Amino acid sequence: MGMKLKVSKVISHSKDILSIRFKTNKKKFIPGQYFLVELPVLNNQIKRPYSISSSPKENYLEITFKKIEKGMLTPELSKLKKGDPATLTGPFGEFVYEEKNSKKIVLLGGGTGIAPLLGILRYCLSKKCKTEINLIHSARKNSELIFKKELERLDKENKNFLYTYTLTRDNSAPKNKKGRINSQKLKKYLDKKTKYYISGPPAFVDGMISSLLKIGCNDKNIKAERY
Ligand SMILES: Cc1cc2nc3c(=O)[nH]c(=O)nc-3n(C[C@H](O)[C@H](O)[C@H](O)COP(=O)(O)OP(=O)(O)OC[C@H]3O[C@@H](n4cnc5c(N)ncnc54)[C@H](O)[C@@H]3O)c2cc1C
Repeated sequence: MGMKLKVSKVISHSKDILSIRFKTNKKKFIPGQYFLVELPVLNNQIKRPYSISSSPKENYLEITFKKIEKGMLTPELSKLKKGDPATLTGPFGEFVYEEKNSKKIVLLGGGTGIAPLLGILRYCLSKKCKTEINLIHSARKNSELIFKKELERLDKENKNFLYTYTLTRDNSAPKNKKGRINSQKLKKYLDKKTKYYISGPPAFVDGMISSLLKIGCNDKNIKAERY
């Protein structure tokens, strides 16, 4: 049975990327997991999975998504306003943050794949965890660097957190912020104790896994979520 929730806030990051918060006090999930979202305006006929970008400590569930012009659900999702209803079912998924086993973590997000990583990060930092956290966001262009301001602020405020991004389709980006994440860039994060959390489109995730394996990372230390 899904939870019938109401929108408490809509955040517009760019013309087609939004976050929506659904108010709830029943938010039992592990950072990294997803919920299925359906809308009464579509007669609850279309269900799609969305990772939760908020921490379980908040009194809302936040999803972050890109509007697909010809998609079935996202055009309607992006019309939602404060107070509108939606049904969320979950949580689901094995892409979960392993709190006990986390001295060092590297979060690698492609596009909106940053969503579950943000959930993990917000949870860790709000708990004042000692985990050493590196987050690298790969986006096409500047406007797709969602949450950049918050991430830069968290980077400044927390000694154990470092935020980096790279732009794959922006020739005007500074040299060290341009191009895809590759083995070369990942080398400096390599460490036997590090756990890698990768999330995004299948091509991004597969590319990151093969880059990590190439430089000698143990596949037991890699967790991945493909959209
Ligand atoms: C575990 C899991 C978690 C997910 N979490 C998120 C999330 O946090 N945020 C998020 O935005 N999405 C997420 N997704 C994807 C999401 O569930 C939908 O597939 C997506 O939002 C498109 O839904 P739609 O109904 O609008 O489009 P659909 O009707 O499903 O698709 C319409 C068409 O668009 C194409 N299409 C689908 N996605 C894209 C894309 N990204 N770029 C270009 N074309 C595309 C499809 O191939 C199809 O031809 C997740 C998927 C999985 C499996």
